[in-house]
Amino acid sequence: MRPALQPALRRTARMPLASAARLGNFPARMSTAAAGQAAPSPANPAPQQPVHQAQAQELDAARQQRARRLLQDAVAATAPRHDWSREEISAIFYQPLMELAYQAASIHRRFHNPAEVQLCTLMNIKTGGCTEDCSYCAQSTRYQKGTGLEAKRVETVESVLEAARIAKENGSTRFCMGAAWRDMRGRKNSLRNIKDMVSGVRALGMESCVTLGMIDEEQARELKEAGLTAYNHNVDTSREFYPSVISTRTYDERLKTLGHVRDAGISVCSGGILGLGETSEDRIGLLYTVATLPSHPESFPVNALVPIKGTPLGDRKPIEFTSMLRTIAAARILMPATIIRIAAGRKTMAEEQQAMCFMAGANAIFTGEKMLTTECNGWDEDAAMFGRWGLQPMKSFRKLTVQAGDVAGQA
Ligand code: SF4
Repeated sequence: MRPALQPALRRTARMPLASAARLGNFPARMSTAAAGQAAPSPANPAPQQPVHQAQAQELDAARQQRARRLLQDAVAATAPRHDWSREEISAIFYQPLMELAYQAASIHRRFHNPAEVQLCTLMNIKTGGCTEDCSYCAQSTRYQKGTGLEAKRVETVESVLEAARIAKENGSTRFCMGAAWRDMRGRKNSLRNIKDMVSGVRALGMESCVTLGMIDEEQARELKEAGLTAYNHNVDTSREFYPSVISTRTYDERLKTLGHVRDAGISVCSGGILGLGETSEDRIGLLYTVATLPSHPESFPVNALVPIKGTPLGDRKPIEFTSMLRTIAAARILMPATIIRIAAGRKTMAEEQQAMCFMAGANAIFTGEKMLTTECNGWDEDAAMFGRWGLQPMKSFRKLTVQAGDVAGQA
């Protein structure tokens, strides 16, 4: 990551003029005629105006002041806003990290109980054999030779509900079921079984979530009728970087599925993965996508890539913790009512790092025996951590789908 020292200043200095002007950073340009000069032409090019150092410093100070004001206004918000410009997100994202985390902690307290963290357990109900080519994923058939992951059949309804019962006994309030599929086309029987799993999980008094790849309007409606609480479908990264990671489905196809989920009245869970080789600008792009959706996702998972040998990203270096923290804190400020989830990669974080994330606005974790194909912190370990830091599990159905104008999004 680029050094964090005075980053807002550096970023705005590189911004296109139109964007920077929108932030109010630059005075309007005077026309050459108004300035009493001959109009520039190829024979008479406009002279390069040397900018005096004092003027440059004045502009920098104005930019910093503008970015600080933007942050203050964002933190004073009493309702989520959906009309963020990318430049505004950039100005917030590049604030000095300690200040960003402090401000995120402040707004977190207005929209959430800071002691509450949602406990979610994720079960892989159909492992491997996926036709997609997500470069980070062990479940793609394309990388099967390298990963050695065996494809399995869909789990039975009984085995899934037994796992949900165990998760509930251990304190989890949301049970997520993931299947390695591109989409649900031609999977009528599987959809029927999944609906039984969803209603069975709801009958246990738990929130239910599934991630099944792309779904259409009708499939979303059926899942809603079965009692589905949330549907996970990550956008993963920025629109610009996305084609470097996945080629078998487009960014817009992902957004279309999110639209079907939203229209069916199911809460949207959509987040990203850090450490794919993206830049800070791509993290801003990811935040821009989700923070400008018609309604903010009810849940925003932030994953740290867990490199898996045999996948194209199997040798990637782990993402720096400060990048995780910065993304979480910026997300908290941009989407104040959303649940922000520390997802994959938490196993590699020290307890103090996790606590820093909770302080800066993260309020959900995956806990239990396993994530989809990677390690997960166990229930006992998390319960002990909660005890040490004075945290408590969030009760089921504490949050509703986050809508514009819905201050706390709380049930
Ligand atoms: S992330 Fe999902 S869609 Fe992509 S390869 Fe893995 S299972 Fe398939």
